[in-house]
Amino acid sequence: MNTRSLIDNVIRPDILALSAYHVPDSSGFVKLDAMENPYVLPQELRTELGRRLADVAMNRYPVPSYTALKEKIRTRLGVPAGFDVVLGNGSDELISMLSIACAKPGAKVLAPVPGFVMYAMSAQFSGLEFVGVPLNADFTLNKAAMLDAIAQHRPAITYLAYPNNPTGNLFDADDMADIIRAVGDAGLVVVDEAYQPFAQASFMPRLPDFPNMIVMRTVSKLGLAGIRLGYMAAGDALLTEFEKVRPPYNINVLTQAAAEFALEHVAILDDQAATLRRERAVLAAALQALPGVEVFPSASNFLLIRLHPSKNSLNNVFAALLDRKVLVKNLGKMHLLLENCLRVTVGTPEENRIFLDALAASLAP
Ligand SMILES: *Cc1c(COP(=O)(O)O)cnc(C)c1O
Repeated sequence: MNTRSLIDNVIRPDILALSAYHVPDSSGFVKLDAMENPYVLPQELRTELGRRLADVAMNRYPVPSYTALKEKIRTRLGVPAGFDVVLGNGSDELISMLSIACAKPGAKVLAPVPGFVMYAMSAQFSGLEFVGVPLNADFTLNKAAMLDAIAQHRPAITYLAYPNNPTGNLFDADDMADIIRAVGDAGLVVVDEAYQPFAQASFMPRLPDFPNMIVMRTVSKLGLAGIRLGYMAAGDALLTEFEKVRPPYNINVLTQAAAEFALEHVAILDDQAATLRRERAVLAAALQALPGVEVFPSASNFLLIRLHPSKNSLNNVFAALLDRKVLVKNLGKMHLLLENCLRVTVGTPEENRIFLDALAASLAP
């Protein structure tokens, strides 16, 4: 038996050509690469959560309607009256459900680039063509290019991350509204609000205005990345179709119980987000004061920075940060517009200080 020919016989060539999504080992590092909330729940709440989880019936399948959890999401996270949600094992799973449901022969997915990599990956996995429309050099939407591409490609799904990852900025809301209207009933527009707790801006209240819009969110960046829970809100007729491709037990009973508990105490998570927004301003000012560092405006819990190319080689600075046990994201090879760029998550004041000291020491004199 030749395993190599077995694999070549059965695995799709485009999958064979991929390398697996690389998550670096971060033990011992100041971890500022993945937009996690550095804060946990207070001790007394964690103890109470432990009791709650102990009572969960792990011998039973989840009840796949998730009625109580959805109710808490709708009421505590601002879903407008008359709209419901579909739940995903992280919004990553929602993105694949969207791809699966829309993967007609020849169907396309469109998004500005640089953007969230899962839009393109998930499209490819489901056999959809991905069309990336470059942002302007200042990371604003190129509305004319978006409208041209929409007219030309008639995408089944258009993604607009609000704010965008990895650039951190909010696109102009009027441009987005024009794009959503231009797509019309030819396609869905998914407004991805993964960073909504840090943005203080949202399309969620505008769901009644745009019947082809889906607002997608996650609890990951709010402080619950480990439980894997995302949701998307839209009109019932649309959601009914996506429910058909949702794996029936995709939210496990522990996630369900932990999320309900966290949402009962969502004010604590909101306070943590407010702290991180203040720390974001402090970190941005300190970075801006370093020679040869450009900081871009952010409505998220991370900052995009560009190192002055003539002075600092990005890869050397990234390596020097790793030597000092600080892990950030090197975006230099992701897209031409991100030349010499790093993305750093806003951490605790102490983590931010360690990062700033390491970066200052890593920059060429
Ligand atoms: C982090 C992120 C997500 C994925 O979130 P999960 O719910 O953890 O899968 C989705 N969209 C954007 C833009 C993100 O940055």
